[in-house]
Amino acid sequence: MNTMKAALVQSFTEPLVIGDVPLPSPGPFQALVRVRYSGVCHTDLHAAHGDWPVRPTLPFVPGHEGVGTVIEIGDQVTRLKVGDTVGNAWLWSACGDCEYCQTSWETLCPDQVNGGYSVDGSFGTHMLVDSRYAPIIPAGVDVAAVGPILCAGVTVYKGLKMTDTQPGDWLLISGIGGLGHIAVEYARAMGRRVVAIDIDDAKLDLAVQHGAEVTVNAASVEDPAAEIIERTGGGVHGALVTAVNAHAFPQAVGSLRRGGTVSLVGLPPEKFPLDIFTTVLFGLTVRGSIVGTRRDMTEALDFFARGLIHPTYKLRHLDEINDIFTDMSAGDISGRIVLDLN
Ligand code: NAD
Ligand code: ZN
Ligand code: ZN
Repeated sequence: MNTMKAALVQSFTEPLVIGDVPLPSPGPFQALVRVRYSGVCHTDLHAAHGDWPVRPTLPFVPGHEGVGTVIEIGDQVTRLKVGDTVGNAWLWSACGDCEYCQTSWETLCPDQVNGGYSVDGSFGTHMLVDSRYAPIIPAGVDVAAVGPILCAGVTVYKGLKMTDTQPGDWLLISGIGGLGHIAVEYARAMGRRVVAIDIDDAKLDLAVQHGAEVTVNAASVEDPAAEIIERTGGGVHGALVTAVNAHAFPQAVGSLRRGGTVSLVGLPPEKFPLDIFTTVLFGLTVRGSIVGTRRDMTEALDFFARGLIHPTYKLRHLDEINDIFTDMSAGDISGRIVLDLN
């Protein structure tokens, strides 16, 4: 039997186990990929801890920012061929036929399959992709740096679009981690003026390196929202919350200018209070935003391929995955970690 190496979640309370698992073979519409790199998203940590209401079935292989080379294709595959460079994604596949899929909202498909969650992901030497949904990596790009675009990039790009802001508007990015530092770059590339908020000065320095104009440390000012309102002359037009902390959410809503919109992207398993009176009288919009469609992915990759987006990342090895998760829990990662699976 052919095998591959992978990091497996076998329990929601124990470290991941690195071991050999059977090499899958591609079914209809699927391709087998030799993974070269995979970004590590905070969602992988939520998955490994079983943080959310619908938990993955154990055991499973996390990872949804994988990039690699197609080595085998299944029946009926027309969009990919052996040798192509492709990725996996959170939106691994969808039904293609429900009201959401029919209206280009496949990210809301109730029957979607999620990479590294309901199907094994990219924390291994090999992975399966659905040829109809797998992102095709543009020719000539840096294949290590492109990993973080496949979840962090597309998610913040879509979330930014959903703020309904215009070029020249102020945009708040809350949480300057893997998603947030890339969000600063997309926001700048889309002509927004960026305010960054985090609880760690090193993260705020990273935000400035990526183009933030104003920074606020939420842990060291008494009223972060009031500070943002003052420094932007009345509040931000839009906000994108990527922080993994429930306190960041009402702060972002409180930083909005009248008529403003906040896109919620971070997924701490908590609730936050929403002030009804201000939301109504100021005409605020609070909305969730989940990854991006195939079209959003193509657009997000195009920004990257044109040299407009430069993720900060560090290469590490699959064997270090438990240390990486410890660092992520402690907030000790600058930018993204990318696993080198070559
Ligand atoms: P990360 O760990 O790299 O970054 C989180 C950041 O939040 C860190 O910089 C941390 O310092 C900051 N933070 C913590 N508390 C804060 C506070 N009170 N105020 C401001 N900032 C604070 O995580 P990531 O990989 O960027 O993921 C972020 C979140 O987004 C996770 O919950 C993840 O599951 C979620 N996510 C959602 C989608 C989606 O489609 N909606 C996609 C990918 C990830
Ligand atoms: Zn992710
Ligand atoms: Zn569907």
